[in-house]
Amino acid sequence: TAALKITDLKKVYANGPEALKGISMTVDSGDFFALLGPNGAGKSTTLGIVSSLVNKSAGRVEIYGHDLDTDLVSAKMCLGVVPQEFNFNMFEKVWDIVITQAGYYGIPPHVAKVNAEKYLKKLGLWEKRDTVSRTLSGGMKRRLMIARALIHEPKLLILDEPTAGVDIELRRSMWDFLKEINAQGTTIILTTHYLEEAEALCRNIAIIDKGTILAHTSKRELLQNL
Ligand code: ADP
Ligand code: ADP
Repeated sequence: TAALKITDLKKVYANGPEALKGISMTVDSGDFFALLGPNGAGKSTTLGIVSSLVNKSAGRVEIYGHDLDTDLVSAKMCLGVVPQEFNFNMFEKVWDIVITQAGYYGIPPHVAKVNAEKYLKKLGLWEKRDTVSRTLSGGMKRRLMIARALIHEPKLLILDEPTAGVDIELRRSMWDFLKEINAQGTTIILTTHYLEEAEALCRNIAIIDKGTILAHTSKRELLQNL
């Protein structure tokens, strides 16, 4: 089964533009996939629908074979999401933010603790576990978002502009981290408007503009045709 299958997906915002004009795309299990395109192309809308944060107007989304319309709970168990904006409780401690998330997925407490320790350590946040999140640096907040998204060890991790506004050193360490978890079997989809980021990380790429997919191909083919 595909990690993600999108079929004829449409989105018209109330009082807004037709943000998605019927896009279709498939991301294979194990892939590292980039959704590339300029500002306003429809990238966040697509990921918002896949994360069930945005309602679609028409079309179909399946995550590891689970249809979002009929099988939402199973679909969500397969999915971890890192939105662009920091949306955790700024007054909560790092440890509590990650553990609270585990509760939403019904992860047993002992498993939650093991996973929280594992991902906070991997992301360089272990020493900050008792720190109130408000006081973290921007780069640390970004990494906290990733640790939280991984707490239930999803098969598919989706990141919306994960390195926007991040300095070059942290960008490289985030790239290494994402490559590592992909090598261990997690499917990754990210949006970016940096061609360089897609080039450094991804095997397959879709280019979206004005709500339409312009290309859906391997990175190698795409670079040959530029
Ligand atoms: P991208 O992530 O590629 O920058 P978006 O998916 O955010 O693109 O936006 C696609 C289009 O939908 C843009 O024209 C944007 O202005 C519009 N849009 C996005 N969110 C909303 C919203 N909540 N209400 C109305 N229009 C929106
Ligand atoms: P700032 O936002 O102030 O630049 P960061 O949160 O980006 O601070 O980084 C804080 C420290 O954590 C830096 O020394 C950085 O090199 C280190 N760091 C960044 N990413 C990782 C990582 N994945 N694992 C361990 N340490 C990291």
